[in-house]
Amino acid sequence: MMSKLIKVIAREEIAKLNPYAARGAALENVLQLDANESPWSAPGSQVLLNRYPAQQPEALVSRMAALYGVSSDKILLCRGADEGIDLLLRATCGAGKDAVIITPPTFGFYAVAAKIQGANIINVPLGKEFELPVNAIIDAAKSNPVKLIFLCSPNNPTGSVIQREEILKIAAACPRQLIIVDEAYVEFAYKPSLSADISATENLVILRTLSKAYSLAAARLGTVLANAPIIELLRKVLPPYPLATPVIDEVKRALSSVNMAIFAERIARLKSERERVFAALVRSEFIEQIWPSEANFLLVKLRHDTDINRRLQQCSIQLRDFSNLDAGMVRISVGSQEQNNVLLAAFAVAPEAIDSVRSAVISRQTKETQISVMVDLEEVEPVQIDTGIGFFDHMLEQIARHGGFSLVLNAKGDLHIDDHHTVEDCAIVLGQALFEALGDRAGIGRYGFTLPMDEAQARVAIDLSGRAAFRFTAEIPEAGVSEFSSQMVSHFFETLSQQLKAAIHIEAEGKNTHHIIEAIFKGFGRALRPALNRQGRVIPSSKGSL
Ligand SMILES: *Cc1c(COP(=O)(O)O)cnc(C)c1O
Repeated sequence: MMSKLIKVIAREEIAKLNPYAARGAALENVLQLDANESPWSAPGSQVLLNRYPAQQPEALVSRMAALYGVSSDKILLCRGADEGIDLLLRATCGAGKDAVIITPPTFGFYAVAAKIQGANIINVPLGKEFELPVNAIIDAAKSNPVKLIFLCSPNNPTGSVIQREEILKIAAACPRQLIIVDEAYVEFAYKPSLSADISATENLVILRTLSKAYSLAAARLGTVLANAPIIELLRKVLPPYPLATPVIDEVKRALSSVNMAIFAERIARLKSERERVFAALVRSEFIEQIWPSEANFLLVKLRHDTDINRRLQQCSIQLRDFSNLDAGMVRISVGSQEQNNVLLAAFAVAPEAIDSVRSAVISRQTKETQISVMVDLEEVEPVQIDTGIGFFDHMLEQIARHGGFSLVLNAKGDLHIDDHHTVEDCAIVLGQALFEALGDRAGIGRYGFTLPMDEAQARVAIDLSGRAAFRFTAEIPEAGVSEFSSQMVSHFFETLSQQLKAAIHIEAEGKNTHHIIEAIFKGFGRALRPALNRQGRVIPSSKGSL
């Protein structure tokens, strides 16, 4: 039985269409001779590319369902949100017959995709302050053969958001239309996605993408969220094998749970950079107007009587021209702190000191462990660690707190065997991340520290010399502290010294195992602090390089 909504919304020929029978996922232990694939993998290929991928790979569907907080039957994966827009048009709009509502200024691809499909476009422009003309949209939907209403929130290019109540009002007033809410930038907004409203709102469709907040634009992975009947309808016009196997694999890897804290931290940073850049640009003599934004970009109107375009050109900065809206309108993407400082310099509102950023992200996944780490030597927060070994978390936190740097580290390891792989691999990624964040090492202090802790004492000396060396003299009386074994202490620091390419000398003694180990980790952090800290830009070596 076709639902009433699908009956009014679908193109009749699509509703009746028997979709092409795409083969499901490749099965193990089954001799699959049904898809005319080659029996051999391509020479030198790391990935099994000879087999067709599933049309909707199950593991990725569940991952995206979890990420967006809906059940798997409400998910359609496609090649970017762009393809989602195209599928919606093809499934619903007959050429020369049906119409869509668009609210300019907004994302340009809605109109392009509508024209390709031959759908009529009804423009209902946003107000003077980019507010949504709710009643005009409802009126236009009532008096025209409208199938789709495109709403973009946060809106590209204005950065403005639409209130949830307004969207639900339109959805309720327009039961014969699909309300498409494009949430390509919702991760940067202050209010959450409307995904929780789908179940109770039959005609609500949400578009999400990994292209903006999740650093995966080239993977081309978009998601349509909607009730199951709409998803089924869209699958009829979805090509048989839209997602390439390397994309499926790479996206699953990138979205592994250990990376999520890093994504969250980067999104938080991008939002705070957006506010910083906004506050700085407001003061710029080159800018006539700037609009507040909840996306990762800012819409600004440049003053016409200045040489700002020449200045931007001189700095090789490319902005997106929106002079079709009004003379001098440009959209500026918010970048990293360093990139934004270059931008602000071009607008003659440079912050006091433009110093280079010292941070690094390393993500490492093997059969034994999945670990990701983010260090920032110029920040002290956040320090957020989860390795699954409580005592080890506490020890790593000592290094970051006493070392005076920000550390986000998440690990999922084979703790059912023991702590060895997890501790060793955390040392590898932490060492690599610190090494990378140090960059050219200009201005760093290099050297060491003695730390008493109750009856225990640790003496730690470090030289960030670019050469690994390790000395460890400590008697640790007991075999470990809860799940953390004592012999992993020296192994951790030895591994760290190799990856950080540093000389690390540790001596410690005492009576209590917990005290001795904690004194070593704290002492290491303390020794690291002056070594990492920068004064000036001189490379501390008579050779002039490290
Ligand atoms: C970038 C963008 C998209 C396209 O996303 P992809 O997943 O990369 O295709 C969709 N909608 C809006 C509003 C965008 O700005």
